[in-house]
Amino acid sequence: MANSAPTSIKQRAFGKLASGKEATLYTLSNSNGVQVDVCDYGATLVALRCPDREGNIGNIVLGFHSIEAYLESDAYLGATVGRFANRIADGKFELKEKQYSLDINGTPNHIHGGVDGFDKRMWHANVLSQEASAIRFSLFSPDGDQGYPGNLSMHCVYRLENDNRLTIAFDATCDQSTPISITNHSYFNLAGSASVLDHWLTLDADFYTPMNQQQIPTGEIAPVADTPFDFRSAHQIGERINDNHEQLKITSGYDQNFITKAQQHGGVVHAAKLRDEPSGRQLDIFTDAPAMQVYTANFLEGAPQLNLVRHSSICIEPQNFPDAPNNNAFPSCILHPGETYKNTIVFAISAD
Ligand code: BGC
Repeated sequence: MANSAPTSIKQRAFGKLASGKEATLYTLSNSNGVQVDVCDYGATLVALRCPDREGNIGNIVLGFHSIEAYLESDAYLGATVGRFANRIADGKFELKEKQYSLDINGTPNHIHGGVDGFDKRMWHANVLSQEASAIRFSLFSPDGDQGYPGNLSMHCVYRLENDNRLTIAFDATCDQSTPISITNHSYFNLAGSASVLDHWLTLDADFYTPMNQQQIPTGEIAPVADTPFDFRSAHQIGERINDNHEQLKITSGYDQNFITKAQQHGGVVHAAKLRDEPSGRQLDIFTDAPAMQVYTANFLEGAPQLNLVRHSSICIEPQNFPDAPNNNAFPSCILHPGETYKNTIVFAISAD
């Protein structure tokens, strides 16, 4: 049960960037032994320590021990991803009758905001309140950043509550219309074990968006019924991951965009549940994003330091649909001047 003792924030040096700038690691704690390490480099979730059903504390997200490994990695471990999460076909889109060409960093596509995406930036940190254990990271992305139009100002707030909910809230404003889709790219393993194949996954999604060989959505909105993508009741991740399904073969495991119920219900909804039976740890994810990418760490060349096996972990990334800038049938991803973009992600942790 949550109690009302105050939460707190501690900070320490986390290593230096090439520029000589010092990165800082902030630790948010609550009264139930939950601790969250976040870093100003990439507004990154570095660790999330929580008790199992016996009260043993363990870290449930992949992370590196110092900034140097983050500088070298392109695995987006725990990072805030933007200006547009996931792929934009051929790095091109048209907006207001103008063609834009983005950085191509996932040949032949643009992925996760480009080679110098928001995950590779130093964000400005503000401890909001010791009592609520919240920290706000701010970033300015200039006009033309990685090819995107307009200046964008954004925030990422991490807030740890005594009910063991970690809320990540993004907001952004711009001075020219721009595509935007921000997410948190944490890799979860609730057991601290080698793989998540025996974790139980539930997704509140009736539909997903099939993709082509370049991992770009075809535009089809397909029912999950009678496919290995039907997680409307709990299934172990490994149960159908090697099924003979053409979509699974493209990605050597799960790497699909599932449609949440947020648009249908108009607000923050329950989107996913991940459970590890032996430890009793459970993660419930809530969001107001229209979709979530579910990725079972099929390739993690970007984190050789961690010496991981395939399917070591799972990312559940609430965001807009991949390639939304090129698909009018998908929810709009265009932020206009005078509007405020918002995306909220809640990681609710429990053990029983
Ligand atoms: C994408 C994967 C990609 C991974 C690392 C995920 O969000 O869906 O296709 O390999 O990020 O970039």
